[in-house]
Amino acid sequence: MHRLLAFLSAALTVSATFITNDTTGIPSSFEYIIIGGGTAGLAVANRLSVNHSVLVIERGTDQRDDENINNPLIATAGFPPNICHGLGSMPPQVGSNGTKLRVQPVQFGNCLGGGSSINAMQGSRPTLAGMNALEALGNPGWGWDDFLPYMQRSETFTPPNAQQIERGASFNASVHGFSGPVGVSFPDPFLVPQVHSAAKETAESVYGVTPTQDMGDGFSGGHVGSMYYHIHFNETLQTQRRSSSAWSFLYPESQQRSNLIVLTEHIVNTIMTTNASTDGNITATGVTLLPSAGGDMLTLSVTREVIVSAGSVFSPGVLQRSGIGNSSLLQSLGISPVLDLPGVGSNFQDQVLLVNVSFPVSDAFQSDPNVTVNAPTLGLITAHATANEAFGDQGTQMISSAVRNSTSAADQVIASGGIVNAQSMELQVNVIANAYEIDHPLMELLFTVGVTLRLWAQSALPLSRGSVYINTTDPFSFPVVDAQYLTIDSDIEIFTRAARRLGLAASTPPFSDLINSTASAALGLPAVNASDDAWRTWALDHYSPAVHFIGSNSMMPHEVGGVVSPELLVYGTTNIRVVDASIMPLGIFPHCTLGLYGVAEKAADMILQTASKADPISLPSP
Ligand SMILES: Cc1cc2nc3c(=O)[nH]c(=O)nc-3n(C[C@H](O)[C@H](O)[C@H](O)COP(=O)(O)OP(=O)(O)OC[C@H]3O[C@@H](n4cnc5c(N)ncnc54)[C@H](O)[C@@H]3O)c2cc1C
Repeated sequence: MHRLLAFLSAALTVSATFITNDTTGIPSSFEYIIIGGGTAGLAVANRLSVNHSVLVIERGTDQRDDENINNPLIATAGFPPNICHGLGSMPPQVGSNGTKLRVQPVQFGNCLGGGSSINAMQGSRPTLAGMNALEALGNPGWGWDDFLPYMQRSETFTPPNAQQIERGASFNASVHGFSGPVGVSFPDPFLVPQVHSAAKETAESVYGVTPTQDMGDGFSGGHVGSMYYHIHFNETLQTQRRSSSAWSFLYPESQQRSNLIVLTEHIVNTIMTTNASTDGNITATGVTLLPSAGGDMLTLSVTREVIVSAGSVFSPGVLQRSGIGNSSLLQSLGISPVLDLPGVGSNFQDQVLLVNVSFPVSDAFQSDPNVTVNAPTLGLITAHATANEAFGDQGTQMISSAVRNSTSAADQVIASGGIVNAQSMELQVNVIANAYEIDHPLMELLFTVGVTLRLWAQSALPLSRGSVYINTTDPFSFPVVDAQYLTIDSDIEIFTRAARRLGLAASTPPFSDLINSTASAALGLPAVNASDDAWRTWALDHYSPAVHFIGSNSMMPHEVGGVVSPELLVYGTTNIRVVDASIMPLGIFPHCTLGLYGVAEKAADMILQTASKADPISLPSP
């Protein structure tokens, strides 16, 4: 009663969203409880709380005034340390001699906005071939035509200005949204003109790709264009700001919700469930949580749904601590299984990146009065190459058969926990090979300039699969996160090719004219015509995580290790959904964020549809 009165008095004075780190002032029951106030979680909360009571529980803090987060130029100048930028570690990953020696960090967001508050703000979208592959995996309603309107709903796209157009930016209005919460725009000032045109020209000649009007139009072939960012121009401050999920869906005046409470600095331990339903499915009745600084465990009740949105690294642990997951794992930790769901935490994956190829610029470029190389600058030229472009005329055939041969690695991947059965490998291999056959990009190459000129190569649609699992019931413990990078031959083959192409781009004019002529040798890059073995060794010794973690609660059929249905409901439950990057079973989002807003919008629609047909659950009397 005391709690309710405290909340009512706060609600009477403020009709805005109530953000607090104190549980004494909040009710004990909500229609929806969302676990994690990150990228997808805040977007779903915003939509549901128009007409329903919603509680978001976020482990981290409210960092709304942190310039290291909000100011895109500061934020991209080497990711300055901030309280939101979490770091964990991964068991050693494979290196060139086959031994697991490479230590890779696990980066994650740890404040309101989650990953969207600390990421590099690079905006990209899936392709038509990618979304259709997701649908073909057993997810009706998730093809490109169904999904595009959701990405548009979340977005306010700012068309390029005259200077940006002059420097090469272009767009296709028909694929964008112009009234959603998330600001998307080209950076201003834009990438220095010399780099812009040199990068495009070199990408065209190295890959044979053609310039595209808009990198987000779903086109599934090879193309090159300017990348937009999740940034917007703030009229009051007269400067660009990060469009994090928090600054898009939570803080703005126009997004206030009297039905929404956001509880920060509290960590969810478990979801409480009952198996009273007649169909044998379990039903969530609430959550247990505790202050992030430590303290007493609390419980809060839910009358409609629990939405797990703690991200790919942490969502599996929430389910596992709640007794939902692989029964053997749970029993080994002393957790009583309530639902044996072996897919929880498997199918975990990340793209692979060569991010450390940073070339010193040439003297001529550095002394050009029109170039400021020392200031951090935003702006990327992105090239997507298809298998034929990357491997020559027979490329598609070669790649699709290399991918199809990967079914022979099923036992190895099952043994490492990456998939639950051979059928899962076969299904995924098929949809990935089919996607390449209809020209899903094989790799992404990114060019940018700061103090150095940087080239990044990123593989698309990897097949290597790892896992995430808890090894203690302590919610504060970091889980065991193992991406198993580059453990499948076809991934190594594709990534080696991406590395070789990166080397070729670095030595092809006009881009090569901008960098120091001795740079490639100084960085230890093999010669362009060096053997495949030399390039493979170099690639395996230089890769980094792309930190686009996905898949650990995959949306795919139950019998192949899926955790959620196409409605994002956890199999075997009536009212637990997962809405975050962990539901994506395939790496079809080259960079995740804009796609994830689409996922959140679609999820909110499905949740509201369910609510329109059913009354809230009556909770048992305490
Ligand atoms: C360094 C870095 C750079 C990146 N760069 C880009 C980029 O340029 N472009 C791009 O599109 N993508 C980028 N990404 C990827 C992108 O940011 C993520 O894929 C995306 O933010 C994931 O969103 P999510 O909703 O799944 O999870 P998150 O945004 O991570 O949200 C999960 C939230 O849950 C909270 N949480 C976790 N466990 C609990 C618990 N038990 N109880 C309560 N709260 C909990 C976390 O604190 C977090 O706020 C980058 C990621 C990183 C780490």
